[in-house]
Order: sequence, then C-alpha cells, then structure tokens
Amino acid sequence: MSRIFVTRPIPAIGIGILRAKGYEVVINEKAENRGATKEELLEGVKSADAVLSILTDKIDGDVMDAGAPTLKVIANYAVGFDNIDLAAAKKRSIMVTNTPGVLTNTVAEHTFALMLAIAHRISEADHFVRAGRYKAWGPNLLLGTDMSGKTLGIVGLGRIGSRVALHAVKGFEMKVLYNDPKPNTEFEKEFGAQFVEKLDDMLPHCDFVSIHVPLLDSTHHLINESRLRIMKKSAYLINTSRGPIIDEKALAKALREKIIRGAAIDVFEFEPDIVPELKDLENIIITPHIASATEETRNKMASMAAENIIEALEGRTPPNLVE
Ligand code: NAD
Repeated sequence: MSRIFVTRPIPAIGIGILRAKGYEVVINEKAENRGATKEELLEGVKSADAVLSILTDKIDGDVMDAGAPTLKVIANYAVGFDNIDLAAAKKRSIMVTNTPGVLTNTVAEHTFALMLAIAHRISEADHFVRAGRYKAWGPNLLLGTDMSGKTLGIVGLGRIGSRVALHAVKGFEMKVLYNDPKPNTEFEKEFGAQFVEKLDDMLPHCDFVSIHVPLLDSTHHLINESRLRIMKKSAYLINTSRGPIIDEKALAKALREKIIRGAAIDVFEFEPDIVPELKDLENIIITPHIASATEETRNKMASMAAENIIEALEGRTPPNLVE
C-alpha cells in the first residue's frame, strides 16, 4: 500500500481523494498552526511514496534522502515551488508538482482588495472609527487616491498578473504597462496593455505597481532601494507574489520617508517575521499570506495536489509536473 505523508493538515477533500485510492495517509497534525519542523519532515517522509508539501516546508536534499528509496513525488500545495530544491529532486528522479491556475482568480481578487484598500485607506479608516476618533464628516478626512484611469504596472504578466491586468482594464479603465521577459502580443491587443522591456523604464510611469513574478535568484530583491526611488512619490506598491522579491528594509525606509505613498503586501521577506518598523507605519496594509485563502480555492488546491500524487504513483505523468 502506498504511503502518503501530508506535512500539515489541508482541506479534507484532498485527504478523501487519497484515502479513496486505498493509500495510507499520514497527516502531520502537530503542524496545524505552524510550519512543520525539519525533524517532523525527516521523520514523516521515511518510507513515504509521496509527500504533499506546503510552501512553509523547506524540502531539500536531506528530506528527499530521508524518503529514499520509496519517495517518488513531492506534490506542493501551491503554485510557487521556491520551497523545494528542484535540482536535488531532479538528481534523485523525484517528481515535483504544483497547483497552477486554480488559485489565479482568488489571488487576483486579493491583489485588488489590497490595491483598493490602500488607495482608499480602508484599514486606516477602520482603525480610526474603532478608536472613537470619528467626530464629524470632514472635507479633508482620510483622503485617498482614485484608481480609475490611473496607470498600473504589472511585474510578471503570467496567469495571476494577466488576471489582475484584466480587472484593471475592464473594471477600472486603468492603463496597463507590463514588464516580463516574454512579451504577450495577444494580451496587448486585447487589453491595450503596453510592454516595457526594462523594469527601470516602467516604474517611473506607474501610479500602482503590482508584483506577480516567481521567486528566483533573478527576482530576489527585484524591488530594492534604487527601484523604489525611481517610482512616483504618489505611487503604491502591491506584492502578492513572494516576500524576498522586495527588500523589506528598503521598503520600510521608502514608506517612512514618503519616497512612495503606500504599499500593500501579503508576503514577507522573512515570513512569518516581518521587519518591525513596517507594522508601525500607517501607509501600509499587511495580510498574512492569504491571497489564495478562500474555501473554494483551497479545496481545489487540495484536490489538485492529491490528483497529481495519484497520477505519479499510478505511473502516469502528473498534469502539473514542474519541469
Ligand atoms: P506564472 O508562472 O503564470 O507567471 C509568472 C510570470 O512572471 C511569467 O510570465 C514570467 O515570465 C514572469 N517573470 C519571471 N521572471 C521575471 C522577471 N525577472 N521580471 C518580470 N517578469 C518575470 O505564475 P502565476 O501563477 O501567475 O504565479 C506567480 C507567483 O505568484 C507564483 O510564483 C507565486 O510565488 C505567487 N503566488 C502567491 C500567492 C499568495 O498566496 N500570496 C498565491 C499564488 C501565487
């Protein structure tokens, strides 16, 4: 009987799919509200045929070796897979899968929720009212910024980036600029989006910048102090991709010194820790890496990860194999 190690509890639908196949499914229940420890990963993976991993798990060569010789597939419960050492997996002929597409709409919606919230100062206003400071309507009270008709710069026009661009164009009549190694002329034609080959040439023209690139060596600190300095003083930065893409200390400085007007971020450089001074600033909104966190989407991600495992263990190529 195949043994599946699930590193942290996931929606029951995924577990049900695996158990219906007759697999032995071992769930690391201890890690419900925290990341699995390295010891738990090393212990859990022993004699497992598959690991269903979470983005908080660092799956390196040590973990893979602990699963040898049975481990055949690591199914990540995320579209990003920067937590898995792909080269180590390839060397050991272990398949790696992810969950692309099913979370695209949800993450795009969360991106827009953040963008609207920072532009209209929703979180600040909520705190203001709860603190009993709302005494009278005021012409200058908590003035924000319109999004309609403004320019949005998308960094990474992949699945999520292009969905965000669609909302911006169709819903808010925004002008969209984008930077990506691969231009998408179809998208440009359909949405009037404009490709900008160099990020440094795009940033100075954007009222909002939204990041949607994967975390790679080439995207680490893609947004650093010098790039923040070339953004408009009135600009807002949104990040729902991965924390280390922004130099968080530089962001805190830029927000404190009003080099940019505001930021809204779902992901942190040293997750779950966050540069302390960011929390004290009013011109930032922070959410705890929940951009894909709706019941519908998390169920789909659980099912997809489970299906990837089944395909791999039954000798077929899993549909979401990461190359
Ligand atoms: P995708 O692969 O469809 O799109 C990524 C895009 O980034 C591609 O078009 C790629 O060409 C582009 N790109 C790569 N390097 C770049 C660079 N240096 N500069 C500009 N563009 C670059 O991926 P996706 O499904 O849209 O997801 C994007 C990322 O969002 C994931 O890798 C993941 O890390 C993150 N994500 C976060 C959450 C969350 O909960 N906050 C949820 C889902 C995804």
